[in-house]
Amino acid sequence: MTEVIPLRLGTVNAYLLRGEDGSVLVDAGGPGAEARLESGLRQAGVQPAQLRLLLLTHGHFDHAGAAAYFQRLGVPVALHSADAGAMRPMTGKGLMGKLLLAVSGKLGDNSGLPAAVKLESLQSLETYGVEAAIVPLPGHTAGSVGVLLPDGALIAGDTFMNFVRPGPAHIAEDFAQMLASIDTLRGRGVTQVYPGHGKPFAPAF
Ligand SMILES: [Zn+2]
Repeated sequence: MTEVIPLRLGTVNAYLLRGEDGSVLVDAGGPGAEARLESGLRQAGVQPAQLRLLLLTHGHFDHAGAAAYFQRLGVPVALHSADAGAMRPMTGKGLMGKLLLAVSGKLGDNSGLPAAVKLESLQSLETYGVEAAIVPLPGHTAGSVGVLLPDGALIAGDTFMNFVRPGPAHIAEDFAQMLASIDTLRGRGVTQVYPGHGKPFAPAF
């Protein structure tokens, strides 16, 4: 049984997946998140260097801040090739979309992220001791993925956000593609969505 342990890092979340044979960290906060991640992991009884994998749901700077730190500790970093290197422009929907775009524009992109494991070549995390499937969710970014656990918990990256109310992300490279990705989740038994921003929620699909 894999346990999901949310690690709240200001406005962004990371999630520790503690499996029977290993632990995987999903996302790594924004720049400067190292200390908070480290103490969150230790509180959960996991030494940072013991992580079997750091999986980045996508390449945005606010999810990959501590990636280089974990890589220095010898933890392999997994990222989809489509999100390696410079990011493509995003568009925003509504007031929240405009606000988020304004903030992201100031903070730059992720150019030069280290990635030892190409996420597109992984279908599950079993090699890393965690029972969970990788679900491709392109749209927020071309290389976005989710992680689906057998009990229906979905670590969703930024495909879903929960700032004011839960729903699809307010910013995306391709909104139509993101909504099509969300459609592929129907019927897959998702019971709880753990978004990149905000609190977990039960999905409406
Ligand atoms: Zn994002």
